[in-house]
Amino acid sequence: MQFEDFKLNRQLLNAIEEAGYEKPSPIQEQAIPLLLAGHDVIGVAQTGTGKTAAFMLPLLMKLKYAQGENPRALILAPTRELVIQIHEHFEMLSKYTDLRAVALYGGSGSIKRQLEQVREGMDLIIATPGRLLDIYERNELNLRQIKTMIMDEADRILDMGFMPQINRLLEIISSKKRQNALFSATMPEKVVKLTHDFLTFPEEINI
Ligand code: AMP
Repeated sequence: MQFEDFKLNRQLLNAIEEAGYEKPSPIQEQAIPLLLAGHDVIGVAQTGTGKTAAFMLPLLMKLKYAQGENPRALILAPTRELVIQIHEHFEMLSKYTDLRAVALYGGSGSIKRQLEQVREGMDLIIATPGRLLDIYERNELNLRQIKTMIMDEADRILDMGFMPQINRLLEIISSKKRQNALFSATMPEKVVKLTHDFLTFPEEINI
């Protein structure tokens, strides 16, 4: 299989080529068509399998062609490091589009700088759950129109004690016509329970 076999546009195919990706990885072969078709997806996959591009490429297509009020999509990740890595993938794969993303995380991340970026506007938020709620509670963000939500490394999100923040975010963000994906290296009982609360008739991929 080739990247050209997916329904991706020329801007993305050019960025993929420049990234040096020659062929889709197994998780990309399975997840990209399902996500492009609008399904909810559970991906059981380790880091290093290409899971970030597996969810980023369909998301970029949707952001490019589906209209709506911004921000339209949210990616949650457990740590600052992972948020930064996902944001780097966004920058690389979206380089020929005019899509904008902000990366929101705690720790060393300056909240003042992040608030400035939020006020400038974005199509996509990539965030740790705690910092996202902090900014939301300052009335700086409208999350009601999020139409795509992705949780990366869901097992680590829960291990870090973010379940209350996740529950609160799921109350705030409308579930109406929202597409969801959850990626996790392991599937302990608490992650399985989260998949029931978070996803609708998901397709499951095991790599
Ligand atoms: P991830 O599992 O998403 O953390 O990706 C692991 C690494 O593989 C990252 O450096 C990606 O940029 C890279 N990668 C993702 N997809 C491909 C691909 N199809 N071919 C080669 N490298 C890839």
